[in-house]
Amino acid sequence: MPAIRDFSGRVVLITGSSGGIGAVTATEFSKSGAQVVITGRNAKNLSDVGKECLKVSPKGLKALEVVADVRLKALEVVADVSKDDDCKRLIDSTIKSFGKLDILVNNAGYGVAYSITDANILDKYDGVMATNLRSVVYLTHLSVEHLEKTKGNIINISSVAGLKPIRGMALYCMSKCAMDMFTKCLALELGPKGIRVNVINPGAVKTNFGPAMGMSQQQYDQVLEDRAKSFPLRRVGQSIDIANIILFLASDESSFVTGINVVADGGGS
Ligand code: NDP
Repeated sequence: MPAIRDFSGRVVLITGSSGGIGAVTATEFSKSGAQVVITGRNAKNLSDVGKECLKVSPKGLKALEVVADVRLKALEVVADVSKDDDCKRLIDSTIKSFGKLDILVNNAGYGVAYSITDANILDKYDGVMATNLRSVVYLTHLSVEHLEKTKGNIINISSVAGLKPIRGMALYCMSKCAMDMFTKCLALELGPKGIRVNVINPGAVKTNFGPAMGMSQQQYDQVLEDRAKSFPLRRVGQSIDIANIILFLASDESSFVTGINVVADGGGS
């Protein structure tokens, strides 16, 4: 049985890996010997994560010393997952570069807080569903034929917002709740093909999540401080807390696990 953190020879695609949970997940996979494909809209952030992946990768270090082998660097694909063509390009580039896909982490997403009375509610609905849900359906659709060959797996990053209602966040909660059900249905459909599908529901994790949904850094820090007080563990999550679960679910140690939600929320509130 390989060590839990040995992903040598595995090709891992992590969406939303230009920052936050996805970036830390990419570096952890790199540290464990995986060939990672990282993606997001911000090219500069993506490049910074790519450098970090190369630095921590055992193969990357070797490559720097010995020979420039592009296959050992993170493949950076600037893409907006809310666009179908970008999703297609993402999978095509992965297969063109490495010939296979072992692990798909559907992590890209953002929060929205809007009232049902807001005038532009349908635009907000289309936006959040395109990124948080449609992209997951399409990337999964495009990946299945490749994951079947590698007997790979999919990890979806949902939220506790998929499990319980949050006032003023109906659209976000709906997107994550649908993702949870998508995961469970897909686990039934893809299990016979040897593909596992699991979902993680994080509670508050300190990332760029708050600012990305329009909060000032000060407001977000206050929200996190308040959340921490209400959690039994008395702290909010860090990206590494979620990355550790992703690597476990992606590993052979969880080879009998499919269709489950792993809730990581410091005990809830
Ligand atoms: P961040 O805002 O720090 O990171 C979000 C990532 O998603 C960035 O890399 C961003 O890259 C990418 N992204 C967003 N929209 C798009 C898009 N249209 N196309 C491509 N990439 C996109 O937030 P987190 O790391 O916290 O979020 C990761 C996941 O975790 C999300 O799905 C979120 O819903 C979930 N989550 C987070 C929680 C938290 O408290 N932080 C709690 C529960 C769940 P770029 O801007 O470069 O496009």
